[in-house]
Formats: sequence, C-alpha cells, structure tokens
Amino acid sequence: MVTYFGSREEAEASISSQAALSPAAAAVAATLAAVFGRDAAATLSPVNQPLASVQPRTAMHAVIGELRCTLYADPTVVNVLTPGSDAEGHLRARALDGNAIVPHPKGNRFYAGVRYAARIPTRPDDDAELLLRRLVGLRLHTVSGSVNSVLHVGSRDVVVATTRSPEGQRVPIADVAAGLELLHDRGIVEVTPDVLGYRSAFIGAVLLTIPGARIVEGSPVRVELADEGEAPGPESRAPELVPGPFQGDLDRPVTAKQRREQQRLRQFLLAGRADANCALCGEVYPARFLWASHIKRRSAATPDEIRDLGRIAMLACVFGCDALFEDGYVAVQAGVIIGTPAVAGSSAIGRRIAEIAGRKFEAYEASEQYFEWHYEHIFRRQDP
Ligand SMILES: [Zn+2]
Repeated sequence: MVTYFGSREEAEASISSQAALSPAAAAVAATLAAVFGRDAAATLSPVNQPLASVQPRTAMHAVIGELRCTLYADPTVVNVLTPGSDAEGHLRARALDGNAIVPHPKGNRFYAGVRYAARIPTRPDDDAELLLRRLVGLRLHTVSGSVNSVLHVGSRDVVVATTRSPEGQRVPIADVAAGLELLHDRGIVEVTPDVLGYRSAFIGAVLLTIPGARIVEGSPVRVELADEGEAPGPESRAPELVPGPFQGDLDRPVTAKQRREQQRLRQFLLAGRADANCALCGEVYPARFLWASHIKRRSAATPDEIRDLGRIAMLACVFGCDALFEDGYVAVQAGVIIGTPAVAGSSAIGRRIAEIAGRKFEAYEASEQYFEWHYEHIFRRQDP
C-alpha cells in the first residue's frame, strides 16, 4: 500500500533520510521506488552534483520503463519530463498505482507529476526476495552463533548453506516473508520453530540483518526492532552491504568507505579516460554514467580476488546494464551475455534484456571464474 503526501516538506519529514542522499533526493528516490517499483526506478543520478547535495528543483535523471526522464522535486509533486513522449500516458502505464500520476495543469504532454509516496508497495514476498538477494555471499549469524550463508535465490526458494549442510538446503521465500511481516507487525518475535517455522534459525539470522534489529537474550531468544530514530545497539549484526547509489534499491546503505572504494575502482577501470564503453551494451558513455560493478560480489571475494581489480570488476552503464547484472537478470556464459528465462520476453524488462543478450563480452577469459560465481549465485536461473 502507498500513502501519499500533500507536499514535499511532508514527504521529506516522513521519508527517513538515506545516507548519501539529500532530503530532496531521498524523497524523489523513495517516490519513484514506491510508484514504479524497483525495476522501473533503475537509475537516479543528478546533473553536475552529488546526490548528497541535491536541492529542490535540481534536475535528476531516472530511467522509467526504458525511457530516460528528467525529474524535479517541486513543492507538491515530483515533476517528470519525458522529451518526445506522452509523459502522462507513459508514467500511468508503468505506475503500480495510477492515482499517483498527475497530468500537467496546462496540458503540456511532455510533463507529468508524480505525487510524493511514502513506502514501497511490494508484496511481502518481493521484499523478502530483494532482501535475500542483497545477502548472497555474506556470512549471517544465527542467534545461537552459527554461520549461515545464502547460496542462491530462486523464484520460490532460497538455498542456504549451514555448517551441517554446506551444499545448501532449500527454504521457502514465503517463510522468510512471513517472518518479516511478523517482525514489522509486532516489533518483536521469538526465534522458535513455533513462530518462524522449521528454519527459524536462518530466518532469525535474516531478521537480524534489518537495520535496527537486535537480539533480546532470554529463553527463547527474541529479535526486536528498535524504535525509529533509536540508534541500533551494539548487538545489531547488520552485515556490510555492497554499495550502489545508481541501482534499483536506492535505500541501500553506502558508507564513506564504500564510496571511496567505488571511486578508486572506477578510476582504475577508466584509466584516465573521460568516456568509455559499457562492458555489457558496448555503448560509449561519459565516465559519470559508468559504474564499477563487481562481477563477483566484494563481500564474497577473497582478499586476493579483491585485489584482482582488472578482472573482478567491469564498467557498466547506469542506463540499465549495471542494474540488470547486479540483480541477476543477465549473466555472461562462455563469453556471451545471456538473459534470465524467469521473465517474459514481452515485458519491459524482457525487452531491455533482449537488447544486450547474445552480445559477446570482450576479455571474457580473464574474468571467467568471477562470471561463473555470478552465474551460480546471482543469475536468475529457472528453478528446477
Ligand atoms: Zn550499458
């Protein structure tokens, strides 16, 4: 469900500020994600300045349903400019809730408004899948201190490795979603099979990765969500997440350290060039539209692999390629880009995939082991 705000000020006050985003940029990012879903709001970048300092009425760019749009945070709506295209129709066709779209008061068909929205209207299962995808490759600690890790996220199940079954066991994503709902509804849940199902240890470990979640010792052990605004206690076990300000989940935390790493990696890959090819679509873009993507996630890489800068990372454009790869919609196999069988070819995302699927990836051999990891862990394969 989406709640709409009457003004930008109201939205900025209610949408929790995100690291590296100014209040205006955070309200716009949250609105795009709420109204269009995470795939539509694949990119958000400001013109000529960092997202942290974007003021109201600063132009920002986003890709909404394959169309590059310019956005402004105005007093009552996010104004969207879609040059050469029917703005209202385009946005209405892609909005999860058509009521969010406001036509231009003077009938200019290249402009439309999007009302400020409060939260992401996804099904709980989608939230759970998105959360699990972020956790692939990280070590998760259960309340009893064991280590679990997410090997692969399918469409129905997540494959989890434990000390006892390192090859992995399937856990229904719906069970994780139910645990998330319980925690959000009640604010505190007991980590027992009665409450969280037979994989309660793993689900408890996932709940502990939510910002603000912490362990309440006792019998049984419980996971509690701290009140908003309260700093997470030292018991919080949120793992370090991979940065990506240009990617779909705009609320991903980005620390100063992670930004520095991204900057260093980009500089290395650009090697002084002002423009470069996107490794996936092959198009040439100015450097600021290219993101240094880890082929194998940094969190899953060994120290030696992390230092293997030229092979473990690539430059991918923010106009979809980086997001498609990062979210497992495309992979590279035997030197060729392949698309997931999990989405319909006729869907917007399916058409975007088709634009790059089949292309040869230059210098594949050097990065083969990392692409294999990506295919194994991140790519959206069809479930068996
Ligand atoms: Zn590209």
